[in-house]
Amino acid sequence: MKKPLVIIILGPPGSGKGTQAKLLVKKFGFEYFGSGDALRNRQKAADFTGKKLIKVMNCGELVPSFVISKLWIDKLEKFGQRTKTNGFVFDGTPRKIIEAKFFDEALIWYELQKKVKFIFINISRKESLHRLIRRRICKKCGRQIPWIGKFKSLKKCDKCGAKLIVRADDEPKAIKKRLEEFKKEVIPVINYYKKQRKLIEINGERSIETIFQDILKAL
Ligand code: AMP
Repeated sequence: MKKPLVIIILGPPGSGKGTQAKLLVKKFGFEYFGSGDALRNRQKAADFTGKKLIKVMNCGELVPSFVISKLWIDKLEKFGQRTKTNGFVFDGTPRKIIEAKFFDEALIWYELQKKVKFIFINISRKESLHRLIRRRICKKCGRQIPWIGKFKSLKKCDKCGAKLIVRADDEPKAIKKRLEEFKKEVIPVINYYKKQRKLIEINGERSIETIFQDILKAL
């Protein structure tokens, strides 16, 4: 049987990783793992880790690698049982070198290491700040409304019609912390894949459609 394609999308906060990942899922029917969504979901368990995740994430800090790795390992295990899948998209993970090394091992363990693409959607710090300060989410369904293109003019959620609010970690102090974390932890991960000549860098400061076409070409 043909091995599924594994796509990892990385980028600074607000770079549009989630938007592009979901477009790939829609076009090809890939399985999806969004690390931010998975952690926000994990918060709901309201156990020790659930409660602590709310505090840590609302401050804009990265969570420990063992917590996020447990979530994608569980997902990979489930994926592994779905033999018909032709691809997986990982959005926003790994974000620390230690997690990247776990991830390398996991891909080998699940026999997925042969067809892997690392995509880095790059935007400047200035653009990241600009977008995050203005970004909104739906109060009811949690849908993220990016500050880009046609989404800027939305007054209500385009999926369920509910009110739009600011995400807890899109407050200025948390945004600053997230950008610091990106520089300190995620840039070394980007360089780790770059050195291995595995990284595909895409300019994220263009329209959603243009970026998506570039990603399709790169795959
Ligand atoms: P995002 O929705 O991608 O902006 O992620 C929201 C938050 O989830 C981040 O600010 C981190 O606190 C946490 N997070 C997401 N992915 C990871 C990861 N791979 N490692 C550590 N923390 C993560």
